[in-house]
Amino acid sequence: MSVNDDIPFNRDFPLAPGVVDEVVPGVRRILCDNPSPFTFTGTVSYIVGRGKVAIIDPGPVNETHAQALLDAVRGETVTHIFVTHTHLDHSPGTARLKAATGATVYAEGQHRASRQRYGSELAPTESGADYAFRPDAVLKDGDVVEGDGWRLEVVATPGHTANHIAFAWPERKLMFIGDHVMGWSTSIVAPPDGSMVDYMASLERLTHRDEQLYFSGHGPEIPDAVRFVKFLIRHRKAREESILYRLAKGEADIPTIVRASYIGIDPRLVGAAGYSVLAHLEDLVARNIVATDGDPTIDGTYRLVVPLA
Ligand SMILES: [Zn+2]
Repeated sequence: MSVNDDIPFNRDFPLAPGVVDEVVPGVRRILCDNPSPFTFTGTVSYIVGRGKVAIIDPGPVNETHAQALLDAVRGETVTHIFVTHTHLDHSPGTARLKAATGATVYAEGQHRASRQRYGSELAPTESGADYAFRPDAVLKDGDVVEGDGWRLEVVATPGHTANHIAFAWPERKLMFIGDHVMGWSTSIVAPPDGSMVDYMASLERLTHRDEQLYFSGHGPEIPDAVRFVKFLIRHRKAREESILYRLAKGEADIPTIVRASYIGIDPRLVGAAGYSVLAHLEDLVARNIVATDGDPTIDGTYRLVVPLA
C-alpha cells in the first residue's frame, strides 16, 4: 500500500537536466540536476515570455544550471527574476543570474519561520532555508507585475514556508505554483518553517480561482489543477482523522504515529513525515482538540482533550 494512494500523482517526468522545453507557448522550463527524495528529479526553473523575459525560481547554486538558463535566453533580455520561496533548492541561484542579467529580483520577503521557535526546538529544514536571500522588490498578495507580453498576479500561498507565493497568469489560466502544489508528491509542511493552518487555507483559496494548469517547482505540470487541489485537501483531512484515531487508542508520540500511518515510506522521508504529523498536531492543539504538556514539539506526547467513549 502506498502512503498517498488517495491522490492521483503523476511521476512521469522525462525532462532531462539542461534541456529547454517550451511546454506551452511563452513558458519554457529547464530542470536542474539536483535530484533527491525532497526535490524529485530536481528543481524546475521557468522562463516566461519571449524577447524580454522573466525567470521564475533560478534554483540552487549550480553553475551548470545557471549556464543552461543563460544559454536559453541568449539574445533575449531578462527583465524580472521571481522567487516563489526561500529554500536552498529555489532561491540561491538568483544572485548569479542577477549578476549576469541585471534583472530586478521580486519575492515576498526574506526567509522567516511561520511562528516563533520554541526553546527546545532545533531548526528543521526541507532542503534548508536560504537566509542570505534578499529581494530587490517586495511582493504581496494581489500585486500585478507586467512584462513584455505577460502579466503575472501574486497569489500568497503560505504554508510550505511563511513567504511562499505563487504567480498566476490569469489571461492564460495558468499558475506557477512553486512547492505549494506538486504533481509527484505532497508538499512538506514542517513547523516552525511551515504551518498546516496556513497551508490548508492556501489550498482552499486555490479552489476559488480559475487557473487550471499549474507549473510546480518539481515534477510535471498539473492539468485539471483545482480538482487535484481538492484531492490534496481531502488527503490532509484524512491524515488528520488517522492521527485522531491513533490518539483515541491512547496517548502517543510522533514516531509511533508515523510508524502507524506512513506504511511503506522511503526511510529518508521519515523525519519529514514526523514534521508533517507535528504540523497537524500543532493545528489540533490550537483548535483545543488535542492536548500536550508544554509546547507542541517534535518529541512531545499527545492525547485527545475529550477522549472518545
Ligand atoms: Zn523545492
